[in-house]
Parts: sequence; structure tokens; C-alpha cells
Amino acid sequence: RHLMARNGYAPLYSDFDSFYTRRLKLRINDCFDRPTTGVPGRYITLLDRETDDNLHFRLKGTTTDTLNLSSYNYLGFAQSEGPCADFAEETVRRDGISMTGTIGDAATTSLHVEVERQIARFVGKEDAVVFSMGFVTNATTFPAIVGKGCLILSDELNHASIRFGARMSGASIQVFAHNSMTDLEKKLRDAISQGQPRTHRPWKKIVVTVEGLYSMEGTMVNLPRIMELKKRYRFYLFVDEAHSIGAVGPRGRGVCDYFKIDPAEVDILMGTFTKSFGANGGYIAADKAIIDKIRCTNAGQIYGEAPTPPVLAQILSSVRLIADEDPLHSGEGQERLQRLVFNSRYLRLGLKRLGFIVYGHDDSPIIPVMLYNPAKMPAFSHEMLKRKISVVVVTYPATPLELSRARLCISASHTKQDLDRFLVACDEVGEALQIKFSSGVAGGL
Ligand code: PMP
Repeated sequence: RHLMARNGYAPLYSDFDSFYTRRLKLRINDCFDRPTTGVPGRYITLLDRETDDNLHFRLKGTTTDTLNLSSYNYLGFAQSEGPCADFAEETVRRDGISMTGTIGDAATTSLHVEVERQIARFVGKEDAVVFSMGFVTNATTFPAIVGKGCLILSDELNHASIRFGARMSGASIQVFAHNSMTDLEKKLRDAISQGQPRTHRPWKKIVVTVEGLYSMEGTMVNLPRIMELKKRYRFYLFVDEAHSIGAVGPRGRGVCDYFKIDPAEVDILMGTFTKSFGANGGYIAADKAIIDKIRCTNAGQIYGEAPTPPVLAQILSSVRLIADEDPLHSGEGQERLQRLVFNSRYLRLGLKRLGFIVYGHDDSPIIPVMLYNPAKMPAFSHEMLKRKISVVVVTYPATPLELSRARLCISASHTKQDLDRFLVACDEVGEALQIKFSSGVAGGL
């Protein structure tokens, strides 16, 4: 339809326009692709809208008190009240909203330095550096640590920010099958031997890149096995803990905590503040020498805006709570972590008992409920919204088209009653849409 713009070139939006699945996506996600208002906490308020033939929104009203199974609010820190919100408010009154400058240009506050120290201590590394966006953390860190002549071995389901950063670095990239240690080992063996004597290293650096908890699958990285391979093949390891930090492990300190692995053995621990901490931004934690290099050479650090004071306040206070370093709220972090584990296991088991196919690790707060057929996505989303439940449905390009799913995010802020309400709704909708694959646990799930 739009082969040529008036200037004779293809229009700037041409690829999007020809990409019918993305166009379709604008129509299918009834709970989302729509504005919300208020805190995305246990409940969320969605703004109702109509779409005209050109897919333009018109606001009609609001759906308040919608049970929220859509946000990455694992520990329930997306709140407008409580100690974190109070500290963020106090900080805005004292320090304002924006640093109006880059980190090197008078925009490093004492709070900034304190957050970096706190994060390093929390994840068990020597030093840490924070960024104002999680995506930028990955996108700009790979070019700072690897380049031409280096090899990145990347899990096929790694987040777009990792893939983006890896490509920007100029390093060679090989992708291994998701969480497949056999494929990873094969690729390592090929990369290292390549007909060379054992002592020869054909690559300047080899970096294996994985996520702690995969956001579309709910799978957890096989860290113990990767550590064994690391001993044998001596690569560097980069773990993106966006979804695992604050969400897994008995102390909420991510996959090292979960698998009882010393974080000193992992070269780079990356994480974001947008999920468990209810804030914004990302971090890299590593040995001091690596962090020094990143501070000086990472474009996101040098040219990007510093994280803002209220965001830093939210990070600091939520980490203190998780680490049980806030004497006024002793035990609250542990309570949240335990509720998250209970809620995640309870809902996952409940769905299996009802006969749904769910993906992922038993302790994952991300629970993908398989719909398979993308045509069922709009109805699932719509029917849930009718019952005042907000869920995200996902398809291509985030997953293969035939593996479309509803992706539930569990929070410590959910009550057992909330989860029971969802299970009843899911049972009804699953029955009506023929999404259930057996009549329940009696069938042997
Ligand atoms: N890494 C992973 C694994 C992610 O899932 C995300 C975003 N969901 C990011 C990085 C980027 O983080 P942010 O949204 O905080 O920019």
C-alpha cells in the first residue's frame, strides 16, 4: 500500500506497516495497550476506551479495582504509601525531581553513591554502578566490556536489551538453545578447540550471557551446571537478574542466593530496579576494576542522565527492607519474600490442578499459561477484564506465534483470596475457550 513516500523513498514506517502481526497486536490485548491510572499494585485502574477504524483511542471511563496480574511488582513495592513512598516524597521535597545533568557533570549525589554501595553489598560484589534505565544498562555495557575478536554466547531467549548490546559491541555472537547446557557446552568446545592446541585461545574473551529468570518462560537458569562449565572452559559469565533479583532466593538476592553459589564466582551481575524494587533503572555489579572501566567507558554512564533522587530513594529504602536493615520495619522484607514464594507456588499448583499447561520453574513468580492459538488471546484478555482481572497476553515477536500465552506476574501484595478469585475466573474462561488440556490433577499432572 505505501510503497513510496512523496520523496521517492520507502516511508519511515514501512517495515512496521508490512508486519501484519504487530498490527494485529494493537487489537488483541484488551487489558493493556491502554492507559492506566494510579499505582500498578495489587489492583490497577484501567481507562476504558473505544477504538475507531483507524485504531485511535477515545476514552470512555475507568475500570477501577481491577485485580492486577500484569505488573512486575514482585515484592509489592509499587506503592504510594509506606516507608519507601515516604522516603521518596521526603527526597523530592529536599532534592527535587531531576539531576538535570549527566553523572560526571555534577549529578552524582551522596544518595547515588550510597545506592551503589548498597547494591554491591546486597548482591555480594565489590562494587556497583547504577543507570537510569535497565535497557540502557545492557545496551551500553556489552560495548564497554567486549568488542571485535571477542565471542558472546547468548541464550536464545535473552532479552532484547542484551541482544542489542551484544550487537552494538561488535563481538561475534553465537546463540545456544534456551537453557540447554548440552548446546552451550558444544558451542564452547567448538569455540575453544577449532583445531587449535589446547593452550591456544582463539578469542580475546568469551562471555556467556544468561538471565536469572526468563520473563516469557518463567524458567530459571541452570546456574550450578553453568558454574561447572565455567570451571572447565574458563569463560566470563554475565547474568541478567532483572526478574530474579529481589524475587528469588531465601534472602531475595537472586539466583546465586537460590542455588547457594558464591556471587564472587559470577563475573558480572546485572539487574533492574523496575521489578522487585518498584523503582526505575538498572545496575551492574562486579569487581572494582570492571566497574571502574564501566564508569569511564560506558556510553550510558558518560552521556546518560543520572538516576533521579526520588528513584534512588525508592531503591535504597526497598533494598534496606529486603536486606532487613531498617530497624523500624524489621522482618518486613522476609515476610514479603515468603508471601511471594507462597503465592507463586499456590497459583501455579492451582492452575495445574485445573488442567492448564503452565510453563516455568516451580519457584517462579512469572507464570505463563499456555493458550497456543493466538486467536484465543483477545477473548481471554477480554473475558478476564469482564471479571475485573488484568492479565497480559503475549505473542509474536515476544514468543513464537504458535506458543501464545497469558503471562501472569505474581506479587507479594496478592492475597490468597485474590488468587482464588483468579483461579475461578480462569477455570470458567478456560472451559469456554477450550484452553484447558485435561480436567485436572486427577488426570495426573
Ligand atoms: N533485562 C531483562 C531480562 C528484562 O526483562 C528487561 C525489561 N523487562 C530489561 C533488561 C530492561 O529493563 P528496564 O525495563 O528496567 O529498562
